[in-house]
Amino acid sequence: MKIKKYSTPHSFKDRKGYVPDMIVLHNTGNTRISSAHYWFLDPDSFVSAHFLVGLDGEIRQYVDLKDGAFCNGTSQSKTQKSYYGNALSPLVASRPHNCNYYTVAIECVGNCGDGLTKEQLVAVAELIKHINKELKRLYSAAVPLDSEHIVRHCDINPKNKSTCGKNISVAEIIARIKKDTELPAARPEKPLKPLKPKPVCNQTDRKAIIKEN
Ligand SMILES: [Zn+2]
Repeated sequence: MKIKKYSTPHSFKDRKGYVPDMIVLHNTGNTRISSAHYWFLDPDSFVSAHFLVGLDGEIRQYVDLKDGAFCNGTSQSKTQKSYYGNALSPLVASRPHNCNYYTVAIECVGNCGDGLTKEQLVAVAELIKHINKELKRLYSAAVPLDSEHIVRHCDINPKNKSTCGKNISVAEIIARIKKDTELPAARPEKPLKPLKPKPVCNQTDRKAIIKEN
């Protein structure tokens, strides 16, 4: 899997000591990869994501997995729409910390409410396998493959991001990852035939070798 790496000024170092255990999926809000790309690189935007996945399955990375992205923050203030207690995700609603500390953000190119293209589905499944491989290397941990730990932005912030990722099917992504990693079904065992020892060379070859020497 090919990942093009870029750097953004919008990230915070070391996740304040948290180990990431959730993945959050987003729609970028339009159909051009360049739009989110320039937004992440713009020094004044104050937004970023770890990964951006194009409609054709292209993957770009902006923030290191050890660091947090400015993508799906939750607030501790009850008056804010992004208050963590408003989350539909039970895990987020039970954690009074900024969600950016413990999540990996994947932005998928597309309008809010769009599902994934076939190419994006394949790429996102591959990407999550890659993320888990890296998290094992960095933290000896991985994001569990279930709908509690892989969520959409609308599950975190239903008050003002109610359409972000709404039609991205987490079940379809998980099924794809599991299908890819399933072992092939074991074949019924056949009795082994005794192997005949193969001659190194036949009679004619031997003669030729003797002649040459
Ligand atoms: Zn979003």
